Amino acid sequence: MEVKIVPIPVGFDTIYAVKGEGVILIDGGDPHKVTKLKEGIEKASIKPEEIRLIVLTHGHWDHIGSVKDIKDLTGARVLMHQKDMHFLDETHPSQPPGFTLWGMVIIAFLKLYSRFIRIPAFEVDIVVGDEDFSLVEYGIPGKVVYTPGHSWGSVSVLLESGEAFVGDLAMNMLPMRLTPGLPPFGDDTQIVKKSWQKLLDMGIKTVYPAHGEPFPVEIMQKAIA
Ligand SMILES: [Zn+2]
Ligand SMILES: [Zn+2]
Repeated sequence: MEVKIVPIPVGFDTIYAVKGEGVILIDGGDPHKVTKLKEGIEKASIKPEEIRLIVLTHGHWDHIGSVKDIKDLTGARVLMHQKDMHFLDETHPSQPPGFTLWGMVIIAFLKLYSRFIRIPAFEVDIVVGDEDFSLVEYGIPGKVVYTPGHSWGSVSVLLESGEAFVGDLAMNMLPMRLTPGLPPFGDDTQIVKKSWQKLLDMGIKTVYPAHGEPFPVEIMQKAIA
C-alpha cells in the first residue's frame, strides 16, 4: 500500500497527516492552530472527515493544544498513553526538567510562559499502555510503540516502510537544537536513549520529529553511541 506523508507546519510544531487507505494525524499542535491544520489537509486533498484517528505522541502543551478543535473539525478519535493522561488535568501546563544547560534555559522560559497557556479540554478515546497498538484498522500499515523518556507516556508511530514519527524523542529545530539529535529536556535522558535503542532495533530508516525536518536514523545511532 502506498502511504503518503503530509507534514503540516503549524507554527512551533509539525503535525503529520499519514494517508494510506485511511488517514491519521500525529499530534495536535499548540493552541489555536486548527485553521492552519485545515489549510494543510485541504492542500493535500484530505477531507476533515477522512481523518479517523489522532495519535498524540505525548501530553506536552504544544502537542495537545488544538486537539479539541481538531476533534470538532474531523470527528476523529484520540489516542494517548495512559502515563501522560495527567497532563489533561493541568490548569497551566507543567514543564519537564532540562537535560542540558541550554535545556534548563528553555524550560525556565517556558515556566514563565506557561501561565498564559490554556489547553481546551478534550476526551481521549483510546488510552494505550506499554504494548504496541496496530494502526491497520485505521488503514495505515504501521503501529504505535511505547517510547518513554521525553515524557513517561511518550509514544512513536512506526510505518512498515521504516518511517518513525517520534514526537519529541528527537528534535531538529531552533531554539531547541542547531542540528538533529536528542531532546535537551524531558523526564529521563537515559530512558530516552533506551527508547532510541528500541527504535533502532526495530529497523527504522527515517526520523520525523515534531519540531523540525526529517532526517536519517544514522544520526540517532551516533547520538546514543
Ligand atoms: Zn515535549
Ligand atoms: Zn514539543
